[in-house]
Amino acid sequence: MQAIFDGHNDVLLRLWRNVQAGGDPIAEMVNGTTSGHIDLPRAKAGGLAGGLCAIYIPNSKPLTLNPPNTRGQYANPLSPPLERQPSLDIAVAKAAIALKLDRAGVWKLCRTTADIREAMDKGVFAAVLHMEGCEPIGADLAALELFYGAGLRSLGPVWSRNNIFGHGVPFAYPSGPDTGPGLTEAGKALVKECNRLGILIDLSHITEKGFWDVVKLSEHPPIASHSNAHALTPVARNLTDKQLDAIGERKGLVGLNFAVTMLRSDGREVGETPLDDMVRHIDHLVKRAGIDCVAIGSDFDGAMVPKEIGNASGLQNLVAALKNAGYGDQELAKICRENWLRVLGEAWGEK
Ligand code: ZN
Repeated sequence: MQAIFDGHNDVLLRLWRNVQAGGDPIAEMVNGTTSGHIDLPRAKAGGLAGGLCAIYIPNSKPLTLNPPNTRGQYANPLSPPLERQPSLDIAVAKAAIALKLDRAGVWKLCRTTADIREAMDKGVFAAVLHMEGCEPIGADLAALELFYGAGLRSLGPVWSRNNIFGHGVPFAYPSGPDTGPGLTEAGKALVKECNRLGILIDLSHITEKGFWDVVKLSEHPPIASHSNAHALTPVARNLTDKQLDAIGERKGLVGLNFAVTMLRSDGREVGETPLDDMVRHIDHLVKRAGIDCVAIGSDFDGAMVPKEIGNASGLQNLVAALKNAGYGDQELAKICRENWLRVLGEAWGEK
């Protein structure tokens, strides 16, 4: 079995909603869930050794998404911007869940790659705290310092909406990622501060202009934790070949997103999406960015994933499909965990 370190999940969103409904996140993780993708039994069954767990701030009102037309095309406006509050309260509540799980020994909140390897060796889920969209952080970046102290080691300046740091891409098919402006001045200051502190900068969800702004400004290689190939599935959230080439040239990373809408050539939200679509995307990402720059970014607990994966317990089905497609053990080790560990170590200033 290949141990998998996954670059993106929304388990903290599910646990937070569960807490709001009166649930206990420790019991939910330890005993297992009936509806979610990640819990300890499912992680163990699928070889999921750890991953980046997102602090994501949901829209204040549920969005009514435009249904696809008869040709399957759809276009949605960006989600409306969020206020600093209650974004900050929600982020604190999610960080608190992550810290509680750490103290209870349910998972290890990792701050170094040595932490991750030690947890993996012990069979403890290796969680890394990520922020997906920085609405909880003000332009003075004081909250960044505080979240760093609480274990934050990765962030995406924006989700699919605009904020004081930059601009996100909308959910649209077909659409390229060049949908708006790039980083703001506050966004540039955020990038510099992340470089200084040792926080990975994630470019999934940012506009193409924002992507190139970060590539130009950041001292670290470009990372898109959960995005696929635009050449195969032309949604605004996927990366063009030019972006993938830049990731390869600078030895960054792109993590395969399991969201069916980002895997299927027709962009539809259908669970019956073959593993072949995942393999096709991995092949393309490897062709453009190289075997050292491709990894996993499942989006578990945040998106509809192929039925043949189902949840974390089905991860080895993807590994088997990649094996059948000709990937050897060493290549699989890179895709499954080693590439993530390399870029995390670099972003965290470990060498
Ligand atoms: Zn996302």
